[in-house]
Formats: sequence, structure tokens, C-alpha cells
Amino acid sequence: VNEMPRTVRTAEELAEIDRRVLVHPHHHGSRQERITIVRGDGCSVWDAKGVELLDVMGAGNWVAQVGHGRRELADAAARQMSTLEYYTSFDIFANDQSITLAQRLVDLAPDGLDRVFFTNGGSESVETAFKFARLYHHHRGEPDRTWFISRNLAYHGCTFASGTATGFPGIHEGIGPEFPNVARVSTPHPYRAPDLCPGRDLTDFLIEELTATIERIGPGNVAAMIGEPVMGGAGILIPPADYWPRVRELLSRHGILLIADEVVTGFGRTGAWYDSADRGMRADVVVVAKGLTSGYAPLGAVLVSDAIAETIAGRDTYLFHGHTYSGHATACAVAHANLDLLEQEGLVERSRTIGTWLSEALALLADLPIVGEVRVAGATVGVELVADRETREPLMADWVTVALRNDHRVAAREYGNTLVMAPPLVISRPEIDRAAQALADVLRRRP
Ligand code: PLP
Repeated sequence: VNEMPRTVRTAEELAEIDRRVLVHPHHHGSRQERITIVRGDGCSVWDAKGVELLDVMGAGNWVAQVGHGRRELADAAARQMSTLEYYTSFDIFANDQSITLAQRLVDLAPDGLDRVFFTNGGSESVETAFKFARLYHHHRGEPDRTWFISRNLAYHGCTFASGTATGFPGIHEGIGPEFPNVARVSTPHPYRAPDLCPGRDLTDFLIEELTATIERIGPGNVAAMIGEPVMGGAGILIPPADYWPRVRELLSRHGILLIADEVVTGFGRTGAWYDSADRGMRADVVVVAKGLTSGYAPLGAVLVSDAIAETIAGRDTYLFHGHTYSGHATACAVAHANLDLLEQEGLVERSRTIGTWLSEALALLADLPIVGEVRVAGATVGVELVADRETREPLMADWVTVALRNDHRVAAREYGNTLVMAPPLVISRPEIDRAAQALADVLRRRP
């Protein structure tokens, strides 16, 4: 079996081997179908049978900002691997790519984010941010600040701490005791506000709830709150404009740090380099991953202020935290090439144009009775489905993803009752129109 080169496998053989030996992440065992993706170019990917799919979900996972198959990134990786593939970044060592990338991330970041710690992805970045927050308070003589506040329906990763902070119900089942000292509060979901706080202003309600949560735990026991500026996995939830400024103000009053999880929103996904700045978060810590390399190499980063960095990793402190591949030279070289393209091709600004195209194209959905709300944030859109517009009873969207793929060769993704698109930032207007028409067709033919 192992003697044949990978490329001569048929689609059927690959699917059969896949079923036998590969454990898929985030996979429901009842789903027997397997799709092997073998190639990508621009906004298209091809499966092992040669079927072309229009990728409107950033390689299925909110990445692919610069599109698939970009020579520039492949060349950067090859160049770096033949110069220096990797050397440790522990202790006194670093490599030129990680040093210059750190400077570049700081230059692009909002004021007050001055230092960078590299990881391999989003979950590790969240873990790191949590540890940094606790260490910060510990070194400042407040070791009781060990609690974290996150939000229902948040997605922050799947390791123990990041997974505990994640607010998807199923992720907590069957794994025994979780990371201690995590409290979750309600989701800023304007469309669902009538269920949460009938007749009340949503932000007022959420601030009251957060205040009560802080008081219950004890303000001196809370290390940090974590939040996505716009919630991705929850179905593109855009908070009211006064939400983050008021949360920020409340946390500051109690000496609680704010961690912005920009793993999805960063690097143009929602129309800004760092979305948290535009939403008034003024975060103390920002975590990024995905769009940093457009998915061409695994890489994440944690940005903190000088004050935090000096406290946890200053002259007299030993930072006992780091990953073998922190600051991986090849991943950092790929990130440089990715940022070059984002800058040269104006893709962060283009993300906002894509948002306008999405809004215009999806006007097609306005009269469909199962469409509850269409939410656009830059080059992302969530289409929330309901069984009934009056009651807003959720209508699960898995059948939509399947029909889009099978009937229209469009690859999107569903999260519960919300159909999500987050296309590469190089997508064209005709491609957006094609995806929108496909979606309208599928929703009209609801089984
Ligand atoms: N944070 C957010 C907002 C995410 O959407 C994700 C993944 O989708 C993560 C963190 C976890 O990142 P990773 O899957 O790279 O560990």
C-alpha cells in the first residue's frame, strides 16, 4: 500500500484509506462521506475526482485571504527552507524572519500593542494569552486573579483552557473536569435580543449581567475577559456599537484585562487589519492566527503591551512558556509574503468592497420566509435561518451546505442555523453573484 506515489491514488482509494486510518477533527461519526481536496487556485479548489468547487469559506476555515495557489508564498517557503528552515527561538535565540515579522505586526497593530509572542495557531495563542494574563497579575502581587470571563457561543479553540472558554455546549461533554475558573456570560446577538431581554436595551442588559458576574466572582479574582470583536463561529454576530466601549470601561474600572480574539477577524477578514480597534475594544492582549499566513503555514501570535511583556518576561523573570515551533522561520517567511500580498493588492480595503457586493447580491434572499437575518462584516456573511419569521425558531442549516456543494459546486459552511461565507479576499463580483444565486436557489427549494 505504501509503495505507490500519492498522486496515483483514485478518489475512491483515497476515501477508503481515509475512512480506515484518518481521524478527522470536528467530525460527526455518522457522516460517512469523505471529500479529498487535492488542488487550489484563486477561489477554486478541486477534489480527487476532478470536481471544481467555488471556495467561499476560506479553505473551509476562515483562511485563504490571498486565495489558493499563490506562487509568491510557495517561493517564500522554498527560499526560507533552503536558507534556514528552523532554529529554536528559546532563550537567547531568534531568527531574522520572526524578528522582522514581530516588528511588522506591531507596526500594523493599534497603539499599546508593542510585543509579540509566536505560536502555531489560534488555540495555542488563547492558551498563551490566558497564561500571560495570570502571570501578569501574579507578578504584580495579585495572584488571586485567576478567573476568566468568556461568552456563550464563543469559539476560542479546543485545547483545555481555550476549549473551556469556548461557549459551544458540546465541546464540554465527556472530558471530565475542565480548566478551572471560567465564567460565561450572554452573547451580544441583537437579532435574538427579544428572547434574552425582552423590552430592554441589549447593551444595558449585557453590562448589568457582566457587572453581576464580576461581583459574584469578586473583582479582585478576575484576570481577564476574552471575546471575538465580531463572533465568527457563532454565525457572524456583530455587537451593538456601544457594547465593546462599555465592556472596556467596566473592565478597566476593576483592573481586568481584555483579550481580543482576532483569530478570525484579523488580517482583513472583516475589513480591517485588527478589527478590535474599530470596535472600541482597546484590548490589552490580541491573539491572531489564520489570516496571518492565509493558511499557507501554521502560525499564530499574541500581541501585548510593553507593560505586560516587561512584567511577565522582564529582567528578573523567567518566562517558563514556549513551543518548539514558536517563531518558526519558514512560517514567518510565509507570513511576510502573505502580508506583502495583502498590502500590494489592497486586500484589507477590498474586504469592505466584498462586503458591499455580498449585501447587494444577497438582497435576493430578502423575501424568503426562512431567512431570519443576513449579517455582513467585511468579507464575511452569516445568513440565519428560521422555521418561522414570527417566532424566530431556528432552522438548522446543514442541508444548505450539502445542497450548495452537490447542486451548485459552491463550498460554504453552516454553524447551527446560520449559513456562513468567508471567501478569499481576491474573489470577484461574478463569483460572489454566483454564490448568492446558488444560495437563493437552495433556500427557495427548501425540502
Ligand atoms: N479563536 C477563534 C475566534 C477561532 O475561530 C478559532 C478557530 O476557528 C480559534 C480561536 C482556534 O484556532 P485553531 O483552530 O488554530 O487552534
